[in-house]
Amino acid sequence: MNQLDRMYRILTDSRDLLSGGYPRSHEPLQGRVAHLIQELDGGEHAREASVPVPVQTSSGASQGTAAAAFAEEAQMDEDRRFARLSRDERKERLSALEAAVRSCERCPLSLGRTLAVPGAGVLDPLVMFVGEGPGRDEDTSGLPFVGAAGQYLDKWITAIGLERDRHVYITNIVKCRPPDNRDPRPEESDACAPYLCDQIQLVRPRIIMTLGRISMRMLTGTTKGITRVHGTFFTWHGIPVVPTFHPSAVLRNPQWKRPVWEDLKVVRNWLVDNTGHAASRG
Ligand code: SF4
Repeated sequence: MNQLDRMYRILTDSRDLLSGGYPRSHEPLQGRVAHLIQELDGGEHAREASVPVPVQTSSGASQGTAAAAFAEEAQMDEDRRFARLSRDERKERLSALEAAVRSCERCPLSLGRTLAVPGAGVLDPLVMFVGEGPGRDEDTSGLPFVGAAGQYLDKWITAIGLERDRHVYITNIVKCRPPDNRDPRPEESDACAPYLCDQIQLVRPRIIMTLGRISMRMLTGTTKGITRVHGTFFTWHGIPVVPTFHPSAVLRNPQWKRPVWEDLKVVRNWLVDNTGHAASRG
């Protein structure tokens, strides 16, 4: 690495640390300049949607501070760098992100946690599920959705012909348990949002299903109620997003079982049409 590259790396690492992020692995200056030239020539652009989205009701997060910070973070130059990473590099970066989450102290939720819960699943999943925050069982195990709500979510996954170990990645908006399972506060979601933003770009799901109102608002920017917009399509940076209810809420409100099943069918049918997923329609 030459002197100029070294200085460039120090500057970009400092920028990450000053903005509260964890150090990212930066592209060498020479490569960066080559890409800038390509962009000026109109050659290379950020990753765009490669699959059709039936209905687009929002272009992404645009409401509230968490959503605005989330959108800003997502639009940064990092987009392009993430898009160029190989599968092995993404895997490595995801492990680094998980390690950063486990020792994170960016918000007060770190004070009450037993274990942080970064998320779990496969790279390039068919579906990424995004909930709100870990509960008691997740806090003690360090794994997402392992309690009663997790077992119920497993049934949803199986019902649309998927396997949790092969086709799915699961995470939450905040990675540490809020006390008494309360909703995450906006400042907590704000602090944790960059992790989710990076996770989505590293994991690269074909479609995202948000679970509950908090993750729906964060990823879609809508301020409408979940009872109005569940089962409809939004996009987040070209990735289709379908909101549904949180499994815990459905366990408490059995009248939402039917709407959830309809939402799951929307996702299953999209997968059949766009990914070759072989589940039969019902
Ligand atoms: S909730 Fe997120 S931002 Fe807050 S301490 Fe945990 S990992 Fe860090």
